[in-house]
Amino acid sequence: MTAVVELMDYADVIERFDPVLGLEVHVELNTNTKMFCGCANEFGGEPNTKVCPTCLGLPGALPVVNAKAIEGAIRIGLALNCEIAEWCRFARKNYFYPDMPKNFQTSQYDEPIAFNGYLDVTLDDGEVVRVEIERAHMEEDTGKSLHVGGATGRIHGAEHSLLDYNRAGVPLIEIVTKTIEHTGGRAPEVARAYVSALRDLLSALDVSDVRMDQGSLRCDANVSLMAKDATEFGTRTETKNVNSLRSVERAVRYEMTRQAAILAEGGSIKQETRHFQEADGTTSSGRTKETAEDYRYFPEPDLVPIAPSREWVEELRKTLPEMPSERRKRIQREWSLTDEALRDLLNVGAVDLVAATVEAGATPDEARSWWVNTLAQEANSREIELAELAITPAQLAEVIALVNAGELTNKLAKEVVQGVLAGEGSPAEVVEKRGLKVVSDDSALIAAVDEALAAQPDVAEKIRGGKVAAAGAIVGAVMKATKGQADAKRVRELIIERVGA
Ligand code: ADP
Ligand code: MG
Ligand code: ZN
Repeated sequence: MTAVVELMDYADVIERFDPVLGLEVHVELNTNTKMFCGCANEFGGEPNTKVCPTCLGLPGALPVVNAKAIEGAIRIGLALNCEIAEWCRFARKNYFYPDMPKNFQTSQYDEPIAFNGYLDVTLDDGEVVRVEIERAHMEEDTGKSLHVGGATGRIHGAEHSLLDYNRAGVPLIEIVTKTIEHTGGRAPEVARAYVSALRDLLSALDVSDVRMDQGSLRCDANVSLMAKDATEFGTRTETKNVNSLRSVERAVRYEMTRQAAILAEGGSIKQETRHFQEADGTTSSGRTKETAEDYRYFPEPDLVPIAPSREWVEELRKTLPEMPSERRKRIQREWSLTDEALRDLLNVGAVDLVAATVEAGATPDEARSWWVNTLAQEANSREIELAELAITPAQLAEVIALVNAGELTNKLAKEVVQGVLAGEGSPAEVVEKRGLKVVSDDSALIAAVDEALAAQPDVAEKIRGGKVAAAGAIVGAVMKATKGQADAKRVRELIIERVGA
């Protein structure tokens, strides 16, 4: 029953329409306990073991606000350049869903804790786009349903469903952008770059583990199109719970091509939620979107209003770490990087690793060259992240120090790194086990030089006659004899000495 979906060629979409985006990001806070009760806030575990009457919504159970969650919400608001409400309340968002046992979600509605901010987002080519933030509000997560017996894991076709309330009541912050306009063909990239920048920011704040794969950071992407001559926004769709950066980009792009094909035929877009399919990069229809009125929002009567004092807000402002964008600027300055070098560094995800290697004693150029070239290739061929390679920044700094001390040539250093990556031990251990030390003992080198000169008397004659370039052949022979463990520069010096040129 899968209908054939018409898509418009992407270049034509951009020619005829302007995309409008709105991104909603849910982030689970890493507090010790849940939002309104003392249950542990931890991912996974045996189903229904981290629950109590409050997060199960049993009659008579009363919520108490988690102060750490409020603190996290305010710090996120401040980092996003938001105003922090002087006074705000929680609200009940009423709807029935089996994973939400109270039949309402405790959320915030027209009184969010933070509002009116922005986040500057850097695109791949260095262009900066300012994304305006409408609000960041507090709410609680729902439990999880597991649909058993069907082919897709969806409720359709399932034999029965299981419910796990361990996640019910986990503190969530929902961060909602204002509409993002005038990004044209770069809309999908802007969407990805925004979520990526937000993830980096939340990670620097240490308020969440920001694991998109585990659902602690989730993105809903609202997309609509306006014809070039239109004056009003088109109808949007909301693609729910897109769970990787790449998927955010693909989902936005797909929706643009799908909506454009419908609009071009004179059709209209249904306001609805949609699901993203990782496998083929398409979206499919979810449910028709409720309006705010459907939820019968009203102020939560069981919780007191939140009125963060200005002193507390200023205290929290002092706890903000260096923002990722500022850090990038500082690093570019301190390491004297061109825009291009900085971009390469960011693209391979090596900033932290290089910084740690520099911390351990290497120069920025040395550390960068290893991580961005040699090690990025190693990670690539193993299909893992750079940080997952089995070499630490301290170990790499040790290798670099051995090169600088003349104990390893660059070639030997690469072999040592291979040994470390293969789990043969620390750099010193690999040098020892593989016997990779540079032959620095002149008497051993002199013997090898003399032997090579004796084997090629014609070359020796040329060098003696002033053709120093001919020494290359002798250097080659000595390197071969010492299995590459000689310092080529020293060998060259010794050759000149020995021929008496
Ligand atoms: P909802 O409760 O429907 O999810 P929200 O206000 O939480 O609504 O989020 C809606 C998001 O969609 C916001 O980011 C908003 O800026 C954005 N948005 C609103 N109208 C449009 C539109 N026509 N096209 C694209 N995005 C839109
Ligand atoms: Mg919303
Ligand atoms: Zn509980």
